[in-house]
Amino acid sequence: LSAGTRNTMRWILSGIANGLGLPARHAVRRRLGGRWGILLGYHRVIPPGEAPSHYRMGMDARLFEAQVRWIASRHRVVSIEEFLRWLSSGRTPDEDLVVLTFDDGYRDNLTHAAPLLKELGLPAIFYVTSAGVTERAAYWPEVLAAMIKLTRARSVTLDSGMRSSGPGVIELPLATAAERVGACSKLIAELRTLSGQRITEAILRIAAGLDVDPVKARESTPPMLDGDNLRALAADGFAIGSHSATHPYLPSEEPEAQRREIEDSRRVLEATIRGPVLDFCYPGGGHDGRTRSIVRAAGYRSAVTWEAGVAGSADDPFALPRKGVGPALAAGLSGAFSPAMMEAEISGFISDRFRRRNRRAS
Ligand SMILES: [Zn+2]
Repeated sequence: LSAGTRNTMRWILSGIANGLGLPARHAVRRRLGGRWGILLGYHRVIPPGEAPSHYRMGMDARLFEAQVRWIASRHRVVSIEEFLRWLSSGRTPDEDLVVLTFDDGYRDNLTHAAPLLKELGLPAIFYVTSAGVTERAAYWPEVLAAMIKLTRARSVTLDSGMRSSGPGVIELPLATAAERVGACSKLIAELRTLSGQRITEAILRIAAGLDVDPVKARESTPPMLDGDNLRALAADGFAIGSHSATHPYLPSEEPEAQRREIEDSRRVLEATIRGPVLDFCYPGGGHDGRTRSIVRAAGYRSAVTWEAGVAGSADDPFALPRKGVGPALAAGLSGAFSPAMMEAEISGFISDRFRRRNRRAS
């Protein structure tokens, strides 16, 4: 199904569900003592008028504002710390709980999300990579997106050994804007679960094939949070979490490399903000039993995934489900903010249904 068709189906489903009062009833069956809690995962909050990069990970600041104001008016937004307390207490919160999380450390989180959150008095956690902060290491999907934007090549080739979905060379056309966006998301999906080393090799090979200077591409990626920015967020009471050192897919790394990514990032970030970093976010959502035990041993108290769903007291605090929030999540057919869609999504009504269907299909 195309993204558009899927979105239409979701919109129709959410409209019917809300008409029947199903999200509320569904939520009651989920456990925080009869209430529900959900972690929402954001990436970029794109300043109005700025064209998003080909890596379409983010949402327009105006749509973000509409969503957050609506969430704040309907639900209780709590810090990750308070959420974890509810999970372990076995008590019933007075209201449904929402945790706001932001991944990857884009600077627009400071300039276009934090001021609104402050105005509304809402807590949030920002998961950042320590190399992004201290070495200004660019986030590789954005480097890839910038390369695709800069190239004059008519197609991009990905060699057999660099694909995670199977063997065979793939060649993707780059003639139109839509093809460029599509090629970008396909390449990122193929590279996402490789080790950091292999991703770097693949990016350099792709750059050579596209005849693009990767350093120049890197310079045109969106700005990320630096040490001063992190200290400003922490001073405003926001939590800072670790998203590893360099954003590799951890299960694809050797245990020793995983340990460095998980432990060193915490140490570096704590030194940067001069405060505690207690929560982890798996890059690309990747985790297995070994990764989880390394995170636990490193002294963290929680870790979030990209597994969809509502969190409850039965969840492992080192494998918390989380709902990714993109522009399509809460937009109706017109592309404008749809409260009905948002309610159906965050109560877990839609994500749990999709999850169940996916499970049956797999
Ligand atoms: Zn990430």
